[in-house]
Amino acid sequence: MRKLGGVRVPHRKTTAASVPKPIPIPPEVRLPMSMHIGAPASPVVKAGEAVKVGQVIGEASGFVSSPIHASVSGTVKRVDDRDPVTGLRALSVVIASDGEQAPYGGLRVPDVRDTDSFLAAVRDSGTVGLGGAGFPTAVKLTVKDASAIDYILINCAECEPYITSDTRTMLDETQLLAEGAQLLREYLGTKDIVFGIESNKPEAINKLTALMADKPGIEVRPLPSLYPQGGEKVLIYHITGRRVPEGKLPLDAGVIVLNCTTLSAIVKYIKTGMPLVSKCVTVDGSAVKSPANVIAPIGAPLSALFDFCGGLRGDVKKVLMGGPMMGVSVPSLDMPVLKATNAALAFSEKDSRLPEESPCIRCGRCVSHCPMGLMPLNIERAYHMKRPEMLEAYKAHLCMECGCCAYSCPAKRMLVQYIKLAKAMLSDYRSAKKAGAEGGEAK
Ligand code: SF4
Ligand code: SF4
Repeated sequence: MRKLGGVRVPHRKTTAASVPKPIPIPPEVRLPMSMHIGAPASPVVKAGEAVKVGQVIGEASGFVSSPIHASVSGTVKRVDDRDPVTGLRALSVVIASDGEQAPYGGLRVPDVRDTDSFLAAVRDSGTVGLGGAGFPTAVKLTVKDASAIDYILINCAECEPYITSDTRTMLDETQLLAEGAQLLREYLGTKDIVFGIESNKPEAINKLTALMADKPGIEVRPLPSLYPQGGEKVLIYHITGRRVPEGKLPLDAGVIVLNCTTLSAIVKYIKTGMPLVSKCVTVDGSAVKSPANVIAPIGAPLSALFDFCGGLRGDVKKVLMGGPMMGVSVPSLDMPVLKATNAALAFSEKDSRLPEESPCIRCGRCVSHCPMGLMPLNIERAYHMKRPEMLEAYKAHLCMECGCCAYSCPAKRMLVQYIKLAKAMLSDYRSAKKAGAEGGEAK
């Protein structure tokens, strides 16, 4: 099968053998009500209220939304408007921890006996795409016609350099993954569940393969280590040979993709009644003294994770949430761990320097490495020319911001940054066009 572009990146998965350890509970956690795609949750607690671990502090406010739970026990300090730390246009609940980590008394193991109760449990667990996407999992699994799902793919690719938190899920929670796959088969009726793993994780492949060997309809599929193997559309193509139609969802190709840590979190909730309140995060990078995997309460400041890993070296210049290819640079170590945070990376001044751009030599490498079949050099040009109609023609909106184009560019063009700006320009253009058309119709 033809490969969909991609690049070979250094793996740097030096923390793969680091069994996650819990960090000390920080004095304060900050829980943004918008750490998922969709409508922000609505806070249901007020300043001064006592809360316990697992208690709902934000209710889902629509179908595409997710509840938020207290990750520490203590007292609500305040509910911040327009979060001053994350900059998100949503409320944040700040909780002062009492250090007790007392579980909420109202937690119950959910009664899962059919598809509806299974989906209700997924919703109540507060699980969203934990591989970084943050899309509410219950919404993804709610389909009108279950017979339209031919495959559920469990995304174990973890193709970004440095990140090993999913690897730890595969090694430490293998049994939960096996149980999760069976729950999906039982309650969604999907016949084929495939775990897709990059071949640079032989230990995880062996462990999962041994456990799934006697389970019909569940397969473990090793895949080439080629970034972005874990991109949803790339994974679907490389496992099933199907392409997601342009502008459509994986479901339109008969496929649902779930991250492995997402699946494990669902099973934990179904077995214990404790929703998603903590996260395994890889802490690494050249400015981190002792890189490791840690378990942090959601909402803990990044500084608490770095402190647990021996602190940062003096020449730290850049801090990322997520991996070096698709992660986001953060302005402050007060930034909280979000549900979808899988890595906190800190880099020295030397490793943070951006290379000098030079003019495009039209070599075409960015085109041949783009997994979406786009022409990044033309998108960049159309952006600089301020020609949104050309961006439309070049399908800039299909870019998944994987960074393969910039990584392969010998002229070091900052293609991803330009394409992000181009997408914003195209979005404004489309909105204006739509508003114009509607105004015309109204007349
Ligand atoms: S890889 Fe860089 S230099 Fe080559 S065509 Fe693309 S933008 Fe131009
Ligand atoms: S254009 Fe977008 S999808 Fe294509 S390689 Fe560049 S960042 Fe990735």
